[in-house]
Amino acid sequence: MNVYFDNAATTPLDPEVLDAMLPFMRDHFGNPSSIHGHGRQVRAAIENARKTIAHLINAAPAEIVFTSCGTEADNYAAFGSVRTLGLTHAITSPLEHHAVLHTLQALQKAGDIQLSYVRHDAQGRFDLAHLEELLATHPRTFVSLMHANNEIGNLNDIVAIGELCAQYNAVFHTDTVQTMGHYPHNVQQLKANFLVGSAHKFHGPKGIGFLYRRSGLLVDALIHGGSQERNQRAGTENVYGIIGLAKALEIAYRDMATHQRHIQGLKDRFIEKLRTEIDGVEFNGTSAEADKSLYTVLSVSLPPSELNEMLLFNLDINKVSVSGGSACTSGANAGSHVLSALNADPDRGTIRFSMSKYNTAEEVDYAVEQLAKMYRRQPLKI
Ligand code: PLP
Repeated sequence: MNVYFDNAATTPLDPEVLDAMLPFMRDHFGNPSSIHGHGRQVRAAIENARKTIAHLINAAPAEIVFTSCGTEADNYAAFGSVRTLGLTHAITSPLEHHAVLHTLQALQKAGDIQLSYVRHDAQGRFDLAHLEELLATHPRTFVSLMHANNEIGNLNDIVAIGELCAQYNAVFHTDTVQTMGHYPHNVQQLKANFLVGSAHKFHGPKGIGFLYRRSGLLVDALIHGGSQERNQRAGTENVYGIIGLAKALEIAYRDMATHQRHIQGLKDRFIEKLRTEIDGVEFNGTSAEADKSLYTVLSVSLPPSELNEMLLFNLDINKVSVSGGSACTSGANAGSHVLSALNADPDRGTIRFSMSKYNTAEEVDYAVEQLAKMYRRQPLKI
């Protein structure tokens, strides 16, 4: 068996998505900016894709801007808001993805903003009273707090955060890369100014994402040099990426309830089997609490052992692909800023199992068995 449990890093392409993309790779090659028939045909397909995405999240098509990935969308929202609106302060959390953290830190270093961090508890839950204190003392603030954490799976209450931001007139960006296509987003019910999607996290192609930007909030482009995307993002469009992104999101919404049930079932099975097979197993953050975590992510904390340093390597040898933290910063267990912020015991090992609609119960059993075999072989550290 060869199993893939690293779907928070990236997901396999859905064959239905590939079928939708192929005609745009093979036949419809026109540049969407060209005014002739070849170009117009492709332009129409892009605008249809934009409408599809907008409809699914209850936005207007003009509020969707295509980007090269989630990271670019996060950068665009932060740089655009701070520099265009002249914001001088931002609030975030040390648990954010580097696409947000490093971007805001770059703005801080450049002298554009002061940066404050919302407190969180040992499980990584944000302290909303502290957020309110920060909002009250810093008018005209950019707030960036993620919907779900990619490493530990914590699901944050972005409805409550959005309400607070609206109350204090802050610009609210939420990194929804891990939840877009996995939970239904409705921008009419959410008080967020920016949301983000990245196609490869929901069985679409890599190299394409989008930013939802609430109408009325015009911010300057990050990439200059052309009038594409209504002057908001220059560069010839990634046409087949855009087609694939819209198709992938359409399928994700169509099958969401079924997939959520299936994947939550796999996660429950993981938790139960790990608890039975491995003494002293724990779960990071709120990962094991169904209503407080992403159903696709389980962050496992393993007891101190000589084995922990080689954990991912040994699983890989046994054909189980997992991640130790965020795959974007990658490599083994080293350097997870999220686990450090949680003061996780460095002697414990961490594995992130992240699941998709393509995983099966047999694969869960196989992965747990490989892990259990190692721990049975290796004496625990005292
Ligand atoms: N934000 C979060 C929460 C993520 O998990 C990731 C990728 O893992 C990103 C942003 C970056 O997305 P992309 O790979 O599309 O640049």
